[in-house]
Amino acid sequence: MTENLTSTLRQRIASDGPLSVADYMQAALLDPDHGYYSTQEPFGVDGDFITAPEISQMFGELIGLWAAVVWQGLGSPETIALVELGPGRGSLMSDVLRASRAVPDFSSAIEVHVIEASPRLRQIQRETLVGHDITWHDDIEGIPGVPSITIANEFLDALPIRQIIRAEDGWHERLVDWSGEHERFEWSQGDALTDLARHLPLPLAEKAKVGDIWEISTTARHAVTALSKRISLAGGAALIIDYGYAVSSLGDTLQAVRNHSSVSVFDAPGSADLTAHVDFAACAEIAAAAGALTHGPTTQRAFLRGLGIELRAARLAAAMKEKQRLEIESALARLIDPSEMGTLFKVMAITAPNSGAPPGL
Ligand code: SAH
Repeated sequence: MTENLTSTLRQRIASDGPLSVADYMQAALLDPDHGYYSTQEPFGVDGDFITAPEISQMFGELIGLWAAVVWQGLGSPETIALVELGPGRGSLMSDVLRASRAVPDFSSAIEVHVIEASPRLRQIQRETLVGHDITWHDDIEGIPGVPSITIANEFLDALPIRQIIRAEDGWHERLVDWSGEHERFEWSQGDALTDLARHLPLPLAEKAKVGDIWEISTTARHAVTALSKRISLAGGAALIIDYGYAVSSLGDTLQAVRNHSSVSVFDAPGSADLTAHVDFAACAEIAAAAGALTHGPTTQRAFLRGLGIELRAARLAAAMKEKQRLEIESALARLIDPSEMGTLFKVMAITAPNSGAPPGL
């Protein structure tokens, strides 16, 4: 099956020339027949990686209460669109909806909207969220223009990036080519560049050396712009949680992960997850340009501790037997320890310009 994507991409390169990193990533992740999210089971111990909501229900429960407080801050509107971008197995939404029942008026105001590209994952979400009324959309523009609370955990890192590389004569786009001689993908460079370099922050342009790489995700920029416009017009908030950098940086962060291990990004595309770090500084700039306010980024550790995750873990543990108590302690450590997800993962909120900072930020 993965052989097929390699040969499809090889033929595409033979007829159209080398691919941008974004085109390669898009095909590897979402090709309808062979893409990673279309065909593989990414999540959990038997999958390729574990996300925070799959580690512990505490994560989604706290975000559910976060959403309830944000809703109250909006004046408790009668209807609120609760939107999730890329829900994976649907665990986070399921935990959020369960926790929201603690605030019944909030719970009954919720209309759930989900953005999901993979038909296979849509089906799993349908099963996880059975009993709830959910509307699926292909993109953010499809969601009705009402006040909304949007959650995006490990969504932006899955969106295609383009890379540019500094050569002696300036910036070039980094491309994926096929080597007939070696029978494998290999890196190449496009003609001297390019429309992308104009987005490069000046301090980075000044310090870049030959061989340095800079990444930009036009898809992520488009998503953040659409979210921010909705929020500044109709009200609401968005919570973005992902790994990435708070300050724009140079560097190649494209990575492939299979079975919890790092593999080459060219190794059997479609069979491994491909991601890149999120540039939170760029997200904040784009949100501001679209008329919204941003809060953070802060670390996942500071955010979850600010929402009281340690107290929640202690309460849960108190009612449990030794084995489950240890499981809760270990889940807590995975979520907040600096050596685990605690500091690599960042949290940023987007709100309308007249709003205060949401809880935890
Ligand atoms: N939020 C989940 C899953 C993260 S994996 C969790 O925390 O467990 C990324 C998710 O985004 C998957 O559901 C994937 O199918 C979806 N996705 C990736 N690219 C997408 C795109 N361009 N449009 C919509 N959904 C996308």
